Amino acid sequence: MAFRQTLIAVPSGVNPYVALFYCKPTAVKDTYPRSKNAVSHRMNVIQTIAAGTPDGLQRLREASQSGLTLCFPGVGSAFARQNDPTCLIVAKKGVTLLVDVGTTVPRALASRGIGIGEFDYYHITHSHADHIGGLEELLLYSHYVLNKAPRLILPREYQETLWNHSLRGGCEHRDNGTFRFEDLAELIDPEQTAQSPRGLYEVEVGGIGLMLFRTVHIPTEGDNSGSKFWSTGLLIDGRVMFTADTRFDPLLFEHVPMENVDAIFHDCQLYEPSVVHASYEQLKTLDDGLRGKMYLTHYGDTFLKFDPSSDGFAGFAQPWAIYQ
Ligand SMILES: [Zn+2]
Ligand SMILES: [Zn+2]
Repeated sequence: MAFRQTLIAVPSGVNPYVALFYCKPTAVKDTYPRSKNAVSHRMNVIQTIAAGTPDGLQRLREASQSGLTLCFPGVGSAFARQNDPTCLIVAKKGVTLLVDVGTTVPRALASRGIGIGEFDYYHITHSHADHIGGLEELLLYSHYVLNKAPRLILPREYQETLWNHSLRGGCEHRDNGTFRFEDLAELIDPEQTAQSPRGLYEVEVGGIGLMLFRTVHIPTEGDNSGSKFWSTGLLIDGRVMFTADTRFDPLLFEHVPMENVDAIFHDCQLYEPSVVHASYEQLKTLDDGLRGKMYLTHYGDTFLKFDPSSDGFAGFAQPWAIYQ
């Protein structure tokens, strides 16, 4: 049995993050119950997919027969040159999901023999180019070359924003009329399971359990009290947290069920001040238990000057390493 914070009467006008203190813990059924004999283990690197490998996705599908498998084609920040922008492949029992399609991601995938259209499912965390710059290519290549519509997991609230503000310019027009988003993608709308203190959405695809949680990447209220800018992270099978892009936000670990989480992949900015990302120095203030299972992602080109393991982190996430 797990406990989830349940909102009780909150006076009007209370900042939704402060509202946490109006919550009481309520027993809820585990979404992804762990068996009694299960042993918690941090996700570790079991092998790395070398550049030039002709069948990288097949390698991941095979590895995933023994359990939840992760691989990051990119681990870099929006401005990195040493690494491609952070994106994540999730694989389980042969089913594959690509999370985020930044500008250079189609080429990064091709370096391991992977076509952008080969994944069973796709998910987008937010609308910055280092996360969606390759999405137009995915949609148009799938339509005109592969003659299919990729399955795209997107909460309904975000579908309209992504289409109207980012994709329409390049995708809408065709020889006879216009496309709608749903003409180019099979849209999968997760169910919203909480609004407060943080928006949560859940869906299961191909045996992979996903909980999407709202993050505060670009707060538009001038503080961490909420954001009009859509951004989400992911809890995968209740075991792995991937924050995508977020500011430093310790309440995240109270709002999302962490009791079965073995590994956290957290974005990390390597210089100060932090404005829209969590900085290395801020993440160092988290307790040992969190840092010990935390791999850093979305990092800049100065990473060789840092030694995350000496600061209690699990390390920098490594590009093309297979985590299991
Ligand atoms: Zn980013
Ligand atoms: Zn971003």
